[in-house]
Amino acid sequence: SNHLSDRIKNMSTSATLAMAAKARELRNEGKDIIGLSLGEPDFNIPDFIKDAAKQAIDENYSSYTPVDGYAELKTAISNKFKRDNNLDYGANQIVVSTGAKQSLFNVAMVVLNPGDEVILPAPYWVSYSDIVKLAEGVPVEVPTQIDTDFKMTPQQLEAAITPKTRMLWFSSPCNPSGSVYSEKELEGLAEVLKKHPDIYVVSDEIYEHINFTEGGHTSIAGIDGMYDRTVTVNGVSKAFAMTGWRIGYIGAPEWIAKGCTKLQGQVTSGANAIAQRAVITALDAPVSKIQFMIDKFHERRDLVLGLLGEIEGFNLNVPEGAFYVFPDISAYFGKTLKDVTINNASDFSLYLLEHANVATVTGEAFGNPNCIRISYAASEKELKEAISRIKAVL
Ligand code: PLP
Repeated sequence: SNHLSDRIKNMSTSATLAMAAKARELRNEGKDIIGLSLGEPDFNIPDFIKDAAKQAIDENYSSYTPVDGYAELKTAISNKFKRDNNLDYGANQIVVSTGAKQSLFNVAMVVLNPGDEVILPAPYWVSYSDIVKLAEGVPVEVPTQIDTDFKMTPQQLEAAITPKTRMLWFSSPCNPSGSVYSEKELEGLAEVLKKHPDIYVVSDEIYEHINFTEGGHTSIAGIDGMYDRTVTVNGVSKAFAMTGWRIGYIGAPEWIAKGCTKLQGQVTSGANAIAQRAVITALDAPVSKIQFMIDKFHERRDLVLGLLGEIEGFNLNVPEGAFYVFPDISAYFGKTLKDVTINNASDFSLYLLEHANVATVTGEAFGNPNCIRISYAASEKELKEAISRIKAVL
């Protein structure tokens, strides 16, 4: 392993996947672990999507696909962008990839030169920072506060911009905080960016549909002046419970889409054929077909907030989307529980795993060392049991 590249040596392992592996290990040892660490819906894929995949197999969709995705899928994506986001993306602006994670990696590789700075409002999704580093960019974390619902203010953005700033990456609804930027808040950020025309934005909208606000979802690409400098990232993992099918996509300025296609042509040759066919059906369906999942997540959010609110030392805000809560548990730092001294969020998360048999993720992985992330993509029964165990060991 001495001969591992510096690139891999310097990379962190995905904390969420590492926690899932640890939970699996303890489960194999016979422990009854409740896993609230993964960002994975606990629903089955709707049957109409499964049927489309079966049909694709029978119809022999088994050859290499076009590198940037089937034309019919790009049409479905284009229609979806128009229908849900009022965005006009033509086929030459759309690239289908092996999950939104690959879409993000492609964009980093295509836009960043070594030393280019990427602003990441923290907390941010766990992989942003390592993807940026892989592309030899420099992540610049902008810490946000719980009293602004972990959202970056225009002033904070302005203060973080340097002559080297090349991009801003954020997710709304946000993983891990569940925060949703309103249209007005996005306009505030766009106002700052207007003064810096060379900065590009990655808007990760993978939780778009899991949004409990009255105002609904706003895409920053739709805000005045932003369309030509925004990459809108989306996928089917979260809304359609299709995490393992690995399909994500972008709508982007044509030069970025072309770059991503060029890169992908040398790396994966394109996304899985069967999954692409199934996603055509998924995206063509009205959002009402998945409303039951969204309603369930909403109920669970309220349940979890209520139960966690009864535990001393949990400072919570109200997440407005996605399926996570991100409590500040720094009140526990310096305390000793069952002979374990809690010095940081990682200690706290490990303590919950070992003593309450509940898997969560440390906020450190998301750029906030005072919080932990708890996923509520689990059954009500599991959530109640997990939180009562947490309460008992604190
Ligand atoms: N972006 C965010 C904010 C996510 O939470 C995730 C998955 O956890 C992804 C992107 C990646 O999604 P995909 O499964 O499409 O690669």
